[in-house]
Parts: sequence; C-alpha cells; structure tokens
Amino acid sequence: MKAYERLLQYVRIASASDEKGAGSPSAPGIWDMARLLEREMREMGLSEVCLDEHCYLYAAIPANIETEAAVLGFIAHMDVSPASPCEDIRARLVDYDGGDILLSEDKNIVMRVSDFPFLEDYAGKRLIVTDGTTLLGADDKAGIAEILTMAERLLADDSIKHGKIVIAFTPDEEIGRGTEHFDLKRFGADFAYTVDGGRFGEISYENFNASSAQVSFTGRSVHPGTAKNVLINAQLLAMEFFSMLPAAERPENTEGREGFFLLDESGGSVESAFQRYILRDHDARRLRAREDMIGEAARRINERYGEGRAEPVITQTYRNMAEVVEKYPFMIDIAKEAVRAAGGEPFIAPIRGGTDGANLSFMGLPCPNLGTASHNHHGRLEFACADDMELVVVTLVKIAEAYASIGKRQR
Ligand SMILES: [Zn+2]
Repeated sequence: MKAYERLLQYVRIASASDEKGAGSPSAPGIWDMARLLEREMREMGLSEVCLDEHCYLYAAIPANIETEAAVLGFIAHMDVSPASPCEDIRARLVDYDGGDILLSEDKNIVMRVSDFPFLEDYAGKRLIVTDGTTLLGADDKAGIAEILTMAERLLADDSIKHGKIVIAFTPDEEIGRGTEHFDLKRFGADFAYTVDGGRFGEISYENFNASSAQVSFTGRSVHPGTAKNVLINAQLLAMEFFSMLPAAERPENTEGREGFFLLDESGGSVESAFQRYILRDHDARRLRAREDMIGEAARRINERYGEGRAEPVITQTYRNMAEVVEKYPFMIDIAKEAVRAAGGEPFIAPIRGGTDGANLSFMGLPCPNLGTASHNHHGRLEFACADDMELVVVTLVKIAEAYASIGKRQR
C-alpha cells in the first residue's frame, strides 16, 4: 500500500483534539483513530501492539540483525488541529500541472500561487487537497501513514537490515498535551524522530524556548463624577504596559530565528484587568531578556501609579531541544543522508513553535522532527504531496537501516 492511500483513509475520521476536553484523549474522535490504527497494526503483523488507557498507541518491529543496536523510535500524532473544521473532509488526488488549484467550484475556493508561491515546485506531481472548507489533517496523519508504510516495507523485505524499531502514536499534540502520558519506558527507544514537519527533506531540531506571562492590573474605581485625581483605570494601565513592549517584536513582524511577544488574550474593567502574553525565542538568553522586559514594564507602571498596580507571573512552557539533540550530531547526519538517498535535498529549518519532540528530548529521548511532505497545516488550504510522501517513506527506511550500526545510548 502507498502512504498517500493510507492518508486518504485516515482523513475520513474527525479526530480534532479539544482544548476544553479534560481527559486523555481530549475528544472521542481520537479513540476512533487509535482503534483503526491498532487494528491495522495488528493485521500488518507488528509486535507489542498496545493501546493504553490514555489513548497512546505503541508497537514494535523486532530486529533482524544479530548485533545489538540502538532501539530507534518513530512518533506521530493522531489528533488534528481544532483550528479549522475537520468533519466530512472531502480529500481528493489532483494531478497538478502548475498554476492555481480550484478547490471548490460551487464555493469558488481557489488555492493561489500568488499566496503560496512554493506550489509551483509541485508541478508534475500528485497532490492531495480538500474542497477548501475543512483542513486535510495531513498534520499529522501523513506522518502516521508514512511510518506505517515504512513498517510494512520492513516487515515484507528481510533484506533491509535493522535493529529494533518502535512506533508511538499520540493524542492531543495540537493542544500541547501530546507527551503528558507518554510512557518512555514502555516505548524503550534510545533515539527517536517525530514525523510531523512540512516539506519533504525538512529536518528540525531547534524550536522556540517558550514562556507565558500573565499580568494582572489593579485599578481604583470611584464614581466617574468625582473621579478627578482619584480614579485609576486598570484597562489603561494594561494599555500603557503593552505600549512599553517593542512593536517590532510581535509575531507579525518576525521570522526565522527572531523571537517575539504575543498579546494572546486580554480583558478587564476599570477595577481590574489582565493580559496574557506568550514569549518565544530560539535563544534561551534572549528569552530571559524578554521575561526581564515584562518585569521592567511592571516596575515602571508601579513606580508611576503605586505598588501592586501591575503584577506579572511568568511560567516556562517548553525549551529548545537543540540543547539536547546537539549532543547527538549523528542523528541529524543520518537524517540528511537518508533524505539524499531518497533523492531529496535536506534542509534544516528552525521550528517557530514547539513540538512533542522538544518535550521528549527534555524527558530524556532526543527527538528531532522530519518533514511529512505537506503544507498549510491547521487551515482549509492544507495539502500533501502524494509522490513526496513516498520519498519520506524511503527516507524512514534508510534511517532505520542506518541505525543498525549505531550502538545503544549511554545513559
Ligand atoms: Zn503536527
């Protein structure tokens, strides 16, 4: 079976995670996805198939070599983003010959080269698109499809020599809870890759360092008729606070390795107000400098209006996995070599976000991320390239082969 054929099956299941869902998984559709995959993995002959009570799905492929080699893991997530609709996805295969793609004739929805110039790179290839009213869910069902297609190849062809390979599919990655119940011991990998990136050939092992700042503002509310020199409006304190942060360092003004402050949520009244910021930077020291800037802005508000008017609470969210992965440079070298062997050109892309791999890296499992041959994640114009998905499968097979000569990790 081809990886894209698997993807076309998986996208039929609406498996969006739900920020408000309390359990693991956060939504019942993720169970449906997990049960479908569990059945497929058993039928395929994978060993150690286990769907646990938190909806984490694990499996293994035994080694077919005599020597003891590192256990290699591949990870993908089963939930899709709740940011766009995922019910009744009408995915279809398009022979793309360049130019704009008409996604829906009735609704006149078009994916335009002027918006996505990289589309033209896919001329001559087959793409999987939606009708423009839902997301596709290639993030990360393309990754799942590629991992299972790799598994199928390894099981079918004993001439491909590899150590033990382990697989994990997780729930709730899109709402930042994909590693909450990850059982690293059961998984048992020495090294792993998440298959959850964009274009084929992409390799990422740098993500943001992230923290959030919740700032509370306390005003002094009195009758507006007698407010002169007495009233302090908490909402205006919040605005003043916001104006002290550098405008050039907002997400809409940054790219590459530039960090930012995002005012994510705010609200309030005369009496009290709040702002919630997220702070991001690839460089840990620069993130700390941003946290200091939040503290400094609060100090200035309090100097002007009295102690306790602005109170920030800063929480660290996740850290840049480069700190961990850079200790194992062969992980990146092997991935690059595998992309080349599959006929691609590897490129290193810093992630402007976090990944489950970042959390796993700090939990003790170094875990870079690989491209899945898909684009425009979380949106209605999401698409995957069926032909490049095959190249990702070849890449994964080559990585599996390469780890046959890597020893177990010293802990
Ligand atoms: Zn993803």
